[in-house]
Amino acid sequence: MLEDKNQSRTSLSELGEFKLIDHLTKPAVLHHKDSVKGIGDDCAVIGQGEMQNLITTDLLVEGIHFDLSYMPLKHLGYKAVMVNLSDVYAMNGIAKQITVSIAVSNRFPLEALEELYAGIHLACNTYKVDLVGGDTTSSTKGLLISITAIGEVEKEKCVYREGARPNDLLVVTGDLGAAYLGLQVLEREKQVFQVNPNATHELDDYTYLIERQLKPEARKDIVKLLADLEVRPTSMIDISDGLSSEILHLCKHSGTGCQLFEDKIPLDQQVISTCEELNLDSTTIAMSGGEDYELLFTVKQEDYPKIKGNPNFSVIGHMTDDPERVQLVTRGGPKVDIVAQGWNSFS
Ligand code: ADP
Ligand code: MG
Repeated sequence: MLEDKNQSRTSLSELGEFKLIDHLTKPAVLHHKDSVKGIGDDCAVIGQGEMQNLITTDLLVEGIHFDLSYMPLKHLGYKAVMVNLSDVYAMNGIAKQITVSIAVSNRFPLEALEELYAGIHLACNTYKVDLVGGDTTSSTKGLLISITAIGEVEKEKCVYREGARPNDLLVVTGDLGAAYLGLQVLEREKQVFQVNPNATHELDDYTYLIERQLKPEARKDIVKLLADLEVRPTSMIDISDGLSSEILHLCKHSGTGCQLFEDKIPLDQQVISTCEELNLDSTTIAMSGGEDYELLFTVKQEDYPKIKGNPNFSVIGHMTDDPERVQLVTRGGPKVDIVAQGWNSFS
């Protein structure tokens, strides 16, 4: 009999996702010279030539990452692709292929999976990505989707989480917090529906929020825009877990601190009004909400004229030389330390 000699039991919720990944992957050594970047960025980077390959993978689990009572399967398929493409764009790369693996219980009829794949095909056609493989198996209950995206980037254009330097400007695309609020609105509707299935729903005030939750778009356009503007970010990451968490990643990998200005954080009008209605602090939502799939990057100060005034970009802060100080400069003036309150699927 094989006995587990290690009798101690550490709860995963004590560690959280990032510490768990660090802990489990510490023994990993790279045996091949062309494994340029292993664990620790939005994509792995492979290849020593002028062109490098990018690889990223994400697993979505029913009940953890999505709830089919308000997530139409077609949207789920589309979003599952976006989540992966976003990581390729976060390396300043172009996504070219995906593989899709599903585990599905017999609760799902064929028509349901057709819907899921309609979303996947739509994403592939819109973003010019080829579906080239995958795997299909059964699950005891629920649906799991794992997508791997493959991309490429010129070696000199590849942008990592590391590379930010003190005084670089911190820039974010689009606006933040809407996807999280969309989820709150949908959760609320679900609860109303459970109490009274005949209740009529008035969602006109939340259309943008719901769209950001159910049909996010990965920022392929930004990779092209940066190239057109001849701006190469010094570091970059996509916003999946929330602004706080992603800023901390950039700072940790780059060995810098950061000053983020609360009044510069871009918010849509629906985010502001819904926060007022639900009595939520819009800054907290933008910082910790997640699932925005916007890009967060740093640029050298000399590149400021190239991005200035562009409606796609908001300069929200700058990097500093003290890695101990990753701070939010609040509207009132006081600085507060930024702490990650992102996603912890084990808590
Ligand atoms: P992202 O949010 O950009 O998808 P993650 O936070 O999921 O990135 O992952 C951070 C890094 O850890 C990535 O390089 C990812 O490939 C790696 N990683 C995550 N889970 C595992 C695992 N179970 N084994 C090995 N590497 C992992
Ligand atoms: Mg990422």
